Amino acid sequence: MKTTRRKFFFAAAGGGLGALAGAGGAAPAEAPGPGEIIVPQRKVPVLAEADVVVCGGGTAGIAAACCAARHGAKVLLLERWPSLGGMATNALVNIWHTSDRQKQVIFGFVQEAIERAGDFIQRYPDYPKRHETHCFDPEGMRVVFWNLLRDRGVRVLCNVTAVESLVEDGRMRAVLVDTKTGRKAVRGKIFIDATGDGDVAANAGLPFDLGREGDRRVQGMTMMFELRGADQAVARATPREQSQRVLKMMQELRDAGKFPQFNESHAGHYLRGGSNGLYNLCPATGNPLDEEELTRLSEEARGHVYQYRDLWRRELPAFAKAEIVQMGHGLGIRESRRIRGVKTLDGQMVIKAQKQPDAIGHGFWMIDIHDPKGTGYTTHSDQKPGQWLGPGESYHIPLGICLNAQVPNLAVVGRCASTTHEGLASVRLQSHGMVMGQGVGTCAALALHGGEQLSLVDIKKLQATLRSDGVYLEGVPGSA
Ligand SMILES: Cc1cc2nc3c(=O)[nH]c(=O)nc-3n(C[C@H](O)[C@H](O)[C@H](O)COP(=O)(O)OP(=O)(O)OC[C@H]3O[C@@H](n4cnc5c(N)ncnc54)[C@H](O)[C@@H]3O)c2cc1C
Repeated sequence: MKTTRRKFFFAAAGGGLGALAGAGGAAPAEAPGPGEIIVPQRKVPVLAEADVVVCGGGTAGIAAACCAARHGAKVLLLERWPSLGGMATNALVNIWHTSDRQKQVIFGFVQEAIERAGDFIQRYPDYPKRHETHCFDPEGMRVVFWNLLRDRGVRVLCNVTAVESLVEDGRMRAVLVDTKTGRKAVRGKIFIDATGDGDVAANAGLPFDLGREGDRRVQGMTMMFELRGADQAVARATPREQSQRVLKMMQELRDAGKFPQFNESHAGHYLRGGSNGLYNLCPATGNPLDEEELTRLSEEARGHVYQYRDLWRRELPAFAKAEIVQMGHGLGIRESRRIRGVKTLDGQMVIKAQKQPDAIGHGFWMIDIHDPKGTGYTTHSDQKPGQWLGPGESYHIPLGICLNAQVPNLAVVGRCASTTHEGLASVRLQSHGMVMGQGVGTCAALALHGGEQLSLVDIKKLQATLRSDGVYLEGVPGSA
């Protein structure tokens, strides 16, 4: 994947960033090519400044912001959408995984959030025998996330999109954000890119990968939706053959091009049970960085959800009164840019439960790939030995997948960390991204006292701090 490195200049006179020039400010402008225009040089106001600027208010970014603030940093969190939580709330992805199938191995900030969530979160009855341990009400979690950030003293600005990264002398100095009243600058000492798409790091010129080897396609996306009004008593009393007949009908119509794609393994389960709740059923495929494609895919997916409902209403008595009560604010995106770091987590490191000297926590999820061609097929149901870790096994999430060799005061957390397509298929889980958030947020706070260079933080000191903050961290090579 080719990237462009941009060079930004600060205005020479007028008091540093208060008089910040736009991208390419002092450089002579090249003549525009076909389909390009020249943006005039201009001053932009400084909107805010902080020790640590976290871009992206998904679960990974929230963890990073709270944990940096916990250790004394003045923290600012920037989010493009009007509410917090990212995929967890705005795409209705409401499950957390904390167990290696024998014991809980993710604590720390994740456990704190679970405890703060009260009635908004429920522990599964078979805890800790499955990886999935908690499910939550996405609406309520928005409030929980806000309270966690407020109590840690994090300043939160929603409705601002990070659009440019200003790098000077190899250091990140500011992000430019688009607001309702124009472009503004946010200055910081350390920046954490938690945008999921790696926008800030890519704009700073860091190299990245997109998609799997070969065709460069990313994992399939999903439009999550909530269905209510199904009658479970009627579903229980309905012979199993009925739901199987409807599933077969869906398959035949789909194969004839008259019905949308759907996740087959989930469909059987939802239809048999007359499920009320969130449905992970409606796949889509495309480039998450292409706004036109994303617009078309999201709007088509909304129509597909009503096609499912209409067929079920017609064919299955248990669904006669089914209603769609909500869909994701946007498509659920599993994979986007993966920013190249000083380490890259790959599938073998996951499956072999590899331990790492720079561990910041544990991960355990399988290599769970949703078909990049959008059929709705997922390897989750294959249960091949090459995809799953055994019960009681976990791998280390290393700090190195969040750091890079080019910009020492910029890190990434969450699904844009440095992984292969296969590695991401495991570490993309929210709980795993929050482990990264806690590790990097804490590292950022410690780095403020030593040149604001993340890689220079003493890893043993960081690990000791994480442990004292409740992080589970076992088997680190070289530790006593
Ligand atoms: C359908 C589906 C089912 C899934 N199932 C599970 C599951 O069961 N359990 C699980 O743990 N995980 C699951 N995942 C994966 C998981 O939800 C995501 O990988 C995880 O939520 C990513 O978290 P994040 O914080 O890295 O990114 P995100 O949640 O995407 O957060 C990124 C945030 O940054 C903001 N942002 C983006 N660009 C900018 C910008 N330029 N400026 C400012 N803000 C910006 C976004 O609005 C967003 O709020 C699923 C994913 C999908 C799509």
